[in-house]
Amino acid sequence: MMPLTKSPRLRYLLEKMGVFDSLSAIEKLPRRYEDFSLTPMPSHPSDKERLVLLGRVDGAIRRPVRFKKASLVRFPLVLSNGGRIDVEAWNRDYLASILKAGDEVTVLGKWDLSRRVLSLVSVRKGKVPPQETLKAVHSLPDGLSEAVFQKFLLRCFEDLKGPFVDPLPPSIREKYRLLPTLDAYREAQFPTSRENLFKAMRSLKYLEAFLYELLIVKRKDMDRLKRPLHERKIDLPKFKEFVKGLPFELTDDQKKAVNEAYKDLSSPFIMYRLLQGDVGSGKTLVSALVLYLNYCRGYQGALLAPTEALARQHFESLSKLYGKNGPKVVLLLGGQSADDRRETLQELASGEADIVVGTHAVFSKGVVYAALHLAVVDEQHKFGVAQRLALFSKGETTDVYMMSATPIPRSLAQAVYGDLDISSLHSFPSGKRDVETLLYGYHDSRTQEAVRAALAENRRVYVVAKEIHGSDPRRSAEEIFRRYSLLYPGKVVLATGEMDASEIEEALASFRKGKTPILVATQVVEVGLDVKDAGLMIVYDASRFALSSLHQLRGRIGRDGKKATFVLLSDSDGAEKLSILLKSDDGFKISEEDLRLRGPGDMFGTKQSGDLSFALLDPVSDLKMLSYARADAIALKEKEGDDFEIAVGYAERDGKSPLLA
Ligand code: ADP
Ligand code: MG
Repeated sequence: MMPLTKSPRLRYLLEKMGVFDSLSAIEKLPRRYEDFSLTPMPSHPSDKERLVLLGRVDGAIRRPVRFKKASLVRFPLVLSNGGRIDVEAWNRDYLASILKAGDEVTVLGKWDLSRRVLSLVSVRKGKVPPQETLKAVHSLPDGLSEAVFQKFLLRCFEDLKGPFVDPLPPSIREKYRLLPTLDAYREAQFPTSRENLFKAMRSLKYLEAFLYELLIVKRKDMDRLKRPLHERKIDLPKFKEFVKGLPFELTDDQKKAVNEAYKDLSSPFIMYRLLQGDVGSGKTLVSALVLYLNYCRGYQGALLAPTEALARQHFESLSKLYGKNGPKVVLLLGGQSADDRRETLQELASGEADIVVGTHAVFSKGVVYAALHLAVVDEQHKFGVAQRLALFSKGETTDVYMMSATPIPRSLAQAVYGDLDISSLHSFPSGKRDVETLLYGYHDSRTQEAVRAALAENRRVYVVAKEIHGSDPRRSAEEIFRRYSLLYPGKVVLATGEMDASEIEEALASFRKGKTPILVATQVVEVGLDVKDAGLMIVYDASRFALSSLHQLRGRIGRDGKKATFVLLSDSDGAEKLSILLKSDDGFKISEEDLRLRGPGDMFGTKQSGDLSFALLDPVSDLKMLSYARADAIALKEKEGDDFEIAVGYAERDGKSPLLA
């Protein structure tokens, strides 16, 4: 087999950009395209006007003029209409050696009105044929020119002609009128017209969606772990008795979610379910019931929280909810004393403890369970993929129930998360909360007026900052704490992620009791804290928070049913991004907007793993395509049965990749 390049230098540059063979080369899609369709030369071009002109180099090109860090090549051009302009090119000394007097060239550039010259962006020799007017521009490492890379690409297409296997079944291609995949890549790299390029991109997008969904369908198949045959059944009367004793009626959505979990726990397969719903929609209560279901089959359960403060709160509310005669709940934290820890570990190993609440310490090596069968993960997206995986390694037969307060539309969740079952809480337990959202500049006096009003009503005030340290009064929690302490002496307390768990707990207790009714905090308050009489929250430098985080923060106030105020402080740059929060209170909608702004990887905490980073797809605007691809992938799997194996790693051939040969 012929290597695609013999030059070690080119090989080095290609490998640097992740190109190892012809397939990975053609998959490096252009960053943008330059359009070389000629523009007529206007009689009075405006400043920065984009022009594409055909002309002849008039006279010899002078040697480049050098400046400290730059060099300039200048040459005159006689246009086809007889006009004459000067062209300037920065840092392109090579032009002086490749362009000669009399050469016909097509130049693409921007008009510099004050100096009356064309500032060159790109130049091509001769007249550009109509089917070559669109020219790809790639992101290339320093030292690799577009021309060299494109020549290499041409060799790659030659190389792939024989061995390339199209991963899209012909039936699907016909159904959506997609181009054969290799043709689509060719058209994307060397477009012959705008229309064809559009078609190619549509085909490649679909391909991406299809392969992604195929992976999900296959993974789902693998993940469907069978429950052990002799697992104990749920004592349903006992469960019903407990629900009857609750101080309130479950919402319909909560009932539905609990029923879905019950079905999962009674099915022959291990549960793998996500519960999503806005802050305050009652997820915690549902998870308490799911833990109780598990308790009613005589097994241990674990509730995993992302912070110690939240773990403590869960511990308290579970203990209270279950009462003395219910399951024994224990707390396991990283910062516990050795004695406390020893006792807890012993209770878990002996089976005396039924439910453990904690941070990821719950799944550390030294923790042994008598019979752990259920893991509930709160705010699952706060845990990294690795931590979530560690959770599964505690037992193949552990049912997994995850919760997220960043709800996304069901169809989207299925498309990007297809291997999870989903329950959603749309409605709120006690009607709608009444929270007014306001957007102020930093110097607006209404902010402190709101603080004084809240204090006068004996309500709590959250002040949230993005950073811990620093002297910037717009974002440093410590500096904001200092200033509020001057304004409201003795009434302010600070909680940041850097403080010890016990210090945070102390601060929160003092806040909860009303001893210090103002809490200045970093995002530690984002998750879960339930302080009923909090009526005001002020978020500093709000545009630096994700929209869905802000929406979660907003859910922390007004829990007493009275009117509450949510103040976003921002300079005018951030105002546009924040405006959706002023208009909408729908967590599903807001997270959709977030998804659009940030991309899904970030949102699901999977960015590092690259799980959800699409090259072409936008999971929000291309949702339809993802859904179609999902249906196609499922249909294909059903048709092909267990043997189904598609050429996901296509372009199969024996031996090594030719580039490395
Ligand atoms: P989430 O975890 O989704 O933010 P929680 O489970 O903390 O929501 O519920 C918010 C508040 O509503 C809690 O104080 C909880 O006790 C209460 N709550 C939950 N479900 C109901 C219900 N069905 N009826 C009345 N109050 C409820
Ligand atoms: Mg909660």
